[in-house]
Amino acid sequence: MHETMEIAILGAGAMGSLFGGLLAEAGHDVTLLDIDEAHLEAIRRDGLRLSTDRGERVVVKLRALRPEAAQRAPELLIVFTKTMHTEAALDAARALIGPHTSVLSLQNGLGNVERLARSVPRERIMVGVTTWPADKPSAGRVSSHGSGMTRLMSADGETRVSVARTVAALNSAGLACSADPDVWITIWEKVAFNAALNSLCAITQCTVGELSNVPDGPELALKIVAEVAAVARATGVAVDETHMVANVRHALANHRSHRPSMLQDVLAGRRTEIEAINGAVVEAARAVSMAVPCTQTLLQLVRLVDASLTR
Ligand code: NAD
Repeated sequence: MHETMEIAILGAGAMGSLFGGLLAEAGHDVTLLDIDEAHLEAIRRDGLRLSTDRGERVVVKLRALRPEAAQRAPELLIVFTKTMHTEAALDAARALIGPHTSVLSLQNGLGNVERLARSVPRERIMVGVTTWPADKPSAGRVSSHGSGMTRLMSADGETRVSVARTVAALNSAGLACSADPDVWITIWEKVAFNAALNSLCAITQCTVGELSNVPDGPELALKIVAEVAAVARATGVAVDETHMVANVRHALANHRSHRPSMLQDVLAGRRTEIEAINGAVVEAARAVSMAVPCTQTLLQLVRLVDASLTR
């Protein structure tokens, strides 16, 4: 038996519901917090319908509330909104950040610690990365197929009991988690992957495989990877560029029909996370006086698409 934790998930869409559902199944006391009334209502009425490689089931032992309705500060708050909604979500959930609450972001992109640090003392922030995939096909349902892993550490780099307890909780839920002092390497490597493939697919509306229809697609993707790798190294993060290139080549060859989340957002008329990905790389490059022309051009193009969606 493992120790159980009181956990709240702020932003219970695809990833938040997956993590929340698996943690509740493992016996933790889970509250899902979201503003999507249809999703909350479906969970309250029918439970959370979870589909993974372990099968289909319904998780009923969890609460589903709006952030402002939750009053009890949990031991762990996991933030899983899209990056541009973090601040608004945390504002509504202030009552949940008690003196013993740790807050974890496994969101994509850069700048997540800084966004949390506006509301949470830095020594209680954890940051990481997860490669588990998740989709929310309809209200009250979440599906995740394939495998993944989760890596995290404290934002200030200190070894803390809260990190060990969080890792144990995520492992009890089968989320293959470890504490990793080099987590920034993995975070930047994922940023490079997303800066290249998400933004290119969002602009061209190509699937990942269709980017290889002309040599320009892979060429542009690999230029962006090289730019992000150079910025990461210039900011002191020892990324492995060979590994990053191999990851992108693997996706181009094997994930041919995949529509990255940024393309799905564009097709659904939603804003993308471009600012936390290409935008944050351009900002980091500027701070070390580097030019990242391909990353910046893709940022500008996706901004144009975003503006036309939210007009
Ligand atoms: P999602 O859009 O499915 O879920 C986000 C949820 O946040 C939605 O349910 C939305 O209603 C909620 N939300 C928005 N504003 C809110 C507010 N003010 N208060 C409370 N809730 C609010 O997104 P997702 O796919 O679950 O992604 C979440 C994060 O995880 C993103 O940063 C994404 O890049 C990252 N990520 C996603 C995947 C994936 O496969 N989906 C994998 C790894 C990382």
